[in-house]
Amino acid sequence: MKKILLLILVLGLIAGAALLALSRDWQPPTIKLTEATYVNHGVVAMASDNRGLGEVCYYLDGKIDRKSCSDAAGSTSYELTVDLSALADGEHEVCVEVADADRFSPNRESQCRSYTLDKVPPRAVLESATRYMQRGGGAAVFVSTAERETNIRLTVGEHQFRFISNAEGTRHFATFAHPHDVEVADFKPMVEIEDLAGNIRRLLVGTVTKDRSFKPDTLNIPHSFIEKKSLEMLNKEGAGKETFLEMNRTMRAENRAKIKAVTAAAPSLEPRWKGAFYRNLGAPKAQFAEPRTYLLDNEVIDHQTHYGIDIAGLAKMPIKAANDGVVILADYVGIYGNCIIVDHGGHIFTLYAHLSQMDVSPGTNVAKGQAIGRSGKTGMAGGDHLHYATYVCGVPVEPVEWFDQAWLQTRIDDIYNDFKAGE
Ligand SMILES: [Zn+2]
Repeated sequence: MKKILLLILVLGLIAGAALLALSRDWQPPTIKLTEATYVNHGVVAMASDNRGLGEVCYYLDGKIDRKSCSDAAGSTSYELTVDLSALADGEHEVCVEVADADRFSPNRESQCRSYTLDKVPPRAVLESATRYMQRGGGAAVFVSTAERETNIRLTVGEHQFRFISNAEGTRHFATFAHPHDVEVADFKPMVEIEDLAGNIRRLLVGTVTKDRSFKPDTLNIPHSFIEKKSLEMLNKEGAGKETFLEMNRTMRAENRAKIKAVTAAAPSLEPRWKGAFYRNLGAPKAQFAEPRTYLLDNEVIDHQTHYGIDIAGLAKMPIKAANDGVVILADYVGIYGNCIIVDHGGHIFTLYAHLSQMDVSPGTNVAKGQAIGRSGKTGMAGGDHLHYATYVCGVPVEPVEWFDQAWLQTRIDDIYNDFKAGE
């Protein structure tokens, strides 16, 4: 009898110990501190424990007597913001101590990390910029900076333009545009320089821009054109409004997104152009940023904007590269048909569309005046012509400006030469 009682007692003790062991939290909490080295206001510590947290404390610069604590009251994760903004700029050590919610003996974890506090926006000077430009036109800017920075960009509303920088990262040159669809009153080109701590310096580029109008045009679309183009572009039969819109609206939007992506994401090259851009020979037809109305059987079925200029010469005439550069695209691109894009460096690109023949491929270096293909009527073209466009970092601009040596010199090259002068 006694033995049985003893056995029950022993078993009871084992079960009790097991229950106690199970109910305890043996895992220490974890701490994740902001990983960046440079900060401009504070540091965030993420404390977590899957069985609940207790106290979360921090102290600065080894001053453990000035520890500040908050109770995370059993929650499994807690975000603590350590505000450094009252401290002087420089090196600071942040220590975080976390306990979990175990009732008997809380597990503790601590972590310290050094940060460089920098609350001062980077110093930057707008050294030179294009003085006068026009809506739909191009311009350039040269900015110098004093400290290391992570990022310099130029924004115009939703558009972003990219810089090329010298090896030291202290001199920066960018081309930019006044997008044709941005009203003069809304055109505020802004340079943003962000340092490693996240401080941003903003410089407004005071370029004066002039408004201009874009000549509209109306196009009558014959059913036979839709029939022919739907076979070529969509690989299906159709001669009606829906088929036309599938090409002129849906496909156009896709093709433009592709061209924007290709020209906006191209790696930064030093400007390679040498003097005015070459204009391929032929009569000027459609103009830049022309608003177009499309009619089918006298009914308005679509509105689009023409992003380039059309030049009509002899059929299958040789098409020449407008300036030195490297081919970044040579492919069939929907409404543009066979299409070549040349990167001239400085985030300037030229596009040649509706070609019947392409004699270059991506990676080919081309010189100004070098034949790259032949004109044609592939894509959304009724007759043989060259659709020629100029892009600044994904934004189409007035190509005619770039044919003019005096314009190029005073608007772009003078700024670039300033940028290079200090090398
Ligand atoms: Zn065109």
